[in-house]
Amino acid sequence: MRGVPMSKVLRGDDAAVIVVGGGHAGFEAALASARLGVPALLITGDPQRICTLACNPSIGGSAKGQLVREIDALGGAMARITDRVSLHARFLNESKGPSVRALRALADKPAYARLARETVAAQRGLDVVPAMVEDLIVEGGAVRGVALADGRTLRAPNVILATGTFLGGKTFRGDDVRSEGRIGEAPAAGLSAALARLGFPLARLKTGTPPRVARTSLDFSAMTIQPPSPSPLAFSYTAPRGFAGPQLPCWIVETNQRTHALVRDNLHRSPLYGLALIKGIGPRYCPSIEDKVIKFAHNPTHQVFVEPEGWDEPTYYVGGFTTSLPADVQEAMLRTLPGFEAVVMLRAGYAVEYDFVQPTELDASLETRRIAGLFHCGQLNGTSGYEEAAAQGLVAGINAAQRAHGRPPLRLGRETSYIGVLIDDLVTRGVDEPYRMLTSRAEHRVVLRHDNADLRLTPTGRELGLVDDGAWDAFTARRAYLEGGIAHAAHTRAPKTIGRINLSAGATLADALRRPDVTIGDVRDAFPDLDDATAARVEIELKMDGYVRRQQEAIERAARDEAVTVPADLDYSAIRALSREGREKLDRTRPRTLGAARRIPGLTPTDVALLSVHLHRHAASA
Ligand SMILES: Cc1cc2nc3c(=O)[nH]c(=O)nc-3n(C[C@H](O)[C@H](O)[C@H](O)COP(=O)(O)OP(=O)(O)OC[C@H]3O[C@@H](n4cnc5c(N)ncnc54)[C@H](O)[C@@H]3O)c2cc1C
Repeated sequence: MRGVPMSKVLRGDDAAVIVVGGGHAGFEAALASARLGVPALLITGDPQRICTLACNPSIGGSAKGQLVREIDALGGAMARITDRVSLHARFLNESKGPSVRALRALADKPAYARLARETVAAQRGLDVVPAMVEDLIVEGGAVRGVALADGRTLRAPNVILATGTFLGGKTFRGDDVRSEGRIGEAPAAGLSAALARLGFPLARLKTGTPPRVARTSLDFSAMTIQPPSPSPLAFSYTAPRGFAGPQLPCWIVETNQRTHALVRDNLHRSPLYGLALIKGIGPRYCPSIEDKVIKFAHNPTHQVFVEPEGWDEPTYYVGGFTTSLPADVQEAMLRTLPGFEAVVMLRAGYAVEYDFVQPTELDASLETRRIAGLFHCGQLNGTSGYEEAAAQGLVAGINAAQRAHGRPPLRLGRETSYIGVLIDDLVTRGVDEPYRMLTSRAEHRVVLRHDNADLRLTPTGRELGLVDDGAWDAFTARRAYLEGGIAHAAHTRAPKTIGRINLSAGATLADALRRPDVTIGDVRDAFPDLDDATAARVEIELKMDGYVRRQQEAIERAARDEAVTVPADLDYSAIRALSREGREKLDRTRPRTLGAARRIPGLTPTDVALLSVHLHRHAASA
């Protein structure tokens, strides 16, 4: 890889952190570690493929957009890279409440990966080794390094596994089944066995990707246009104003009975159905077209999103058309879509099945409880999606660095962030299907908004050492203007009427802005010191104020449970009255707090109450 010194640290002795896998998780992990002053070695199959966007070109969207903002607020890289290569950005759910609004941007795929590679190359204390890791070196219950496929060993006291879909990876297109982590890339052969030998429970999941088609073969006049936002939008709080490049439209078409008939007629050639080759569970929220046609047979059509993969890329992504049917069937199905009559399919879709490690093995720091110094993040933990992977990678990288420094780990609570919700869900509930972040998973979503990620997390990022002086100064200035704007609204009389709305005598601008029918645009002149973005945030803060205060009570109740810690070595058999099932669940999950115990699925209120009494008695007698 150009510009990256790859062999400098081959001894491994200098590296305090080894990161295995250069996907979205491994990239953020390695970067965070190096930026926190802890030398990191990124070992990855092919360094040219660092941060490959293996499936859709989209970053963000509902709930995932919040994750990207949080990564940025903490000092991670995903938002900044996306903003520089964003070719179609749009706010989702703009007509709905602020807690579900989120940005979604399509990235120029090659440019995204190039910027990630350049970021790695420019980072001091971060080196890349092109190799496959086959085994872990474990001594006395602690990880000590890794063994490579070519027989070399590299030692370090912290190892982060971020191996994505590569563990025992198998790809499927009809009856064409290959041992691959992604199409054309060798799987990680030995690592699954190594993890199983160490006692980690592994299981299979599956995901898939749709075909890619030639731009020049499409007739866009037969499709419905989806225009990008006319005004500049960015994920990063540090982004310069304006888009980095031209904004391109996307297109929508619908499947029809001819498409569905082709699926039904070829089910016997499907590795999911007739051939029954795929055993792993697929993503519920991103089903294959086969699943849509069979399981939702009552729907006469399904939407298909036709999206560019880059400014100069010849390919378009056919979103919503994920399939593992044979290539000839895929091509025939594509031809049934409006505007696709002369389509040239450049790459067929496929499914991939892979091993994941049950994330209940992890502490909320993402360190495994079984092996000290070993961290797991990304799709290896059963998640799906670039954003979920990057968020976990950032936390794993931070915590490996914290461990190397002898500092306490970062554990983000559910009330602080979607990242906290994601990790808590993984480590307390485990995974039985690919986990995707959704706003409905966050019980405190009124507080965990897209707009306020900086208020929630930038002070934490600064304390850790990931937010540089420039970003910190910009944040404190932004916060001061926001607080100033809110105070100004609270102390300034509103006009008696705004448009056709009559306000009560003595109403303030804050009272007016709390109303659903008054927007900041109606009183914009009253805030001459604020830029548009901050003015919009003043309105959101005021409108959400009542909801946030009510949510705060729930957060405080939950915090009381979180403050009750469960000893790591608690002998659950000593709590005699626990049900057998409850004892097994607690023993397997080993919650760190009473709050985490309460969230274990299927643990009865009686068992939680028994644990609570035991812990309080224990605390009183200690
Ligand atoms: C076919 C397919 C379809 C997908 N569909 C979707 C989708 O519809 N929606 C969605 O949100 N997400 C989808 N994804 C998932 C998305 O790509 C991942 O969730 C995300 O990239 C995971 O990031 P990661 O960092 O965990 O792993 P990856 O991005 O998979 O990266 C893993 C990296 O680790 C390296 N590696 C693996 N094992 C080793 C080893 N032993 N030694 C050295 N290096 C190793 C690999 O070379 C690779 O660079 C899909 C992925 C694939 C492959």
